[in-house]
Amino acid sequence: MNQPANAASARTVTLIRGDGIGPEIADAVCSIFDAAGVPIVWDEANAGLDVFEATGTPLPESVLQSIATNGVALKGPTTTPIGTGHKSVNVTIRKALDLFANVRPSRSLPSVSTRFEDVDLIIVRENIEDTYGGIEHCQTPDVHQGLKLITRPGSLAVHRYAFEMARREGRKKVTCVHKANIHKLTDGLFLECFRQVAPEYPEIEADDLLIDNTCMQLVSDPTRFDVIVTLNLFGDILSDLCAGLVGGLGVAPGGNIGAGRAVFEAVHGSAPDIAGKGLANPTALLLSGVQMLRYLGLMSHASRIEAGLRRSLIDHVHTRDLGGNATTDEFASAVISNLPAPDASSQADAEAPEPINVGKTGPVVVSDENWECIGADMFVRNDGLPDMPKEVGPLKLSMISNRGTKVYPGPTPDILLVDHHRCRYLSETPITEADVRALIQAVGDKYAWMHIEKLHRDSAGERMFSRAQGE
Ligand code: ATP
Repeated sequence: MNQPANAASARTVTLIRGDGIGPEIADAVCSIFDAAGVPIVWDEANAGLDVFEATGTPLPESVLQSIATNGVALKGPTTTPIGTGHKSVNVTIRKALDLFANVRPSRSLPSVSTRFEDVDLIIVRENIEDTYGGIEHCQTPDVHQGLKLITRPGSLAVHRYAFEMARREGRKKVTCVHKANIHKLTDGLFLECFRQVAPEYPEIEADDLLIDNTCMQLVSDPTRFDVIVTLNLFGDILSDLCAGLVGGLGVAPGGNIGAGRAVFEAVHGSAPDIAGKGLANPTALLLSGVQMLRYLGLMSHASRIEAGLRRSLIDHVHTRDLGGNATTDEFASAVISNLPAPDASSQADAEAPEPINVGKTGPVVVSDENWECIGADMFVRNDGLPDMPKEVGPLKLSMISNRGTKVYPGPTPDILLVDHHRCRYLSETPITEADVRALIQAVGDKYAWMHIEKLHRDSAGERMFSRAQGE
């Protein structure tokens, strides 16, 4: 690959080609960047399935080091095996480098026929927490558990980022998407943080919407949305939905942003069904590259490449996913031949804009000094209702639930029961560590227990834990 003419002042960027269609679309993007004379030197560092098969690890430490050193990476897709196999490379990179905001724009493209014409929205997805913490356990062979972790510092950071980005890009509205009517504590905290941050940006309208309603509204009228900030899993799903609104996964770009570093990658995966056939649409990775150029302050290069891309689409050079028959290489050649002549403004591209800095909110935002431990949920394994001790010291058995539905006290509801019971012990007064140890001893003498959760109330006497269905 050619190095840019002004290589001395060029920015070094990590390039991860990835696997599946990754190498094909990365080649296409690199050839367009070369032809456009973008002042970037690639530092190649590969990751993904092929690297896993060759070395036993899908993400060598040297790749993370390269991104940390260069501060910016362009990444092709990497395969994440379903159900078993190695960990997701994408998720590992985001966590290792604390890339806490995933910014995924969805904009209508010319000559790409879709149901709506004027889609222009940006999803800001929290990128680290939620069920993506990967904290999963097999509690019994029949009952597997995954923890949904939502933190106040993490939520504040992504909300601040969303509002700062909205302000910088002149956006009018930020909508927080959640399921706080069901996930009252986790999504409730995410929404509470949104409501705390929003008033700091009085010029930007702020509202919130349930995830299910959001899906319905998006497919009815996506133009009512501007910026969406949401939790990790909802953001993952909504981005694919929004990709569908503007032409599919082949055209949906994204950037993972952290403090002083960023990794740009398409929304789509490695598409093994079309890998190696020259059918892949490089638009999503190219637009991710354009997003990266703007992040680096290379505005005129970004606009020029975007113009070449739009012209090619208007000329109906479409890959198969968009209903055409252009190959990946033909598409890249079309973009190159449609690049407008460079203008003088490319000289003015030296300075990158100040990165959006939302700061570290710190590990503890709200003190728990007024919290009191008043009980514990013990999870025990048994076929059928366990005969739990009714009292252990100050703790009284108050409730047993199965799959979240109360089965004790009172008549057992006519529901499917599994060998996994949550046994709730509560005390009128605060309990001590010794009380908890006594509970573990008393329960452990009778049943196998899997885990225990302490239960707290705050200074106002408010319960800091959820109730079971029917409790
Ligand atoms: P992941 O969970 O890793 O994101 P996924 O399950 O969303 O992956 P993809 O690999 O993104 O799956 O592919 C989904 C579908 O979209 C496949 O049929 C694939 O061929 C198609 N697709 C994805 N990316 C492209 C692309 N760049 N060009 C054309 N088709 C694509």
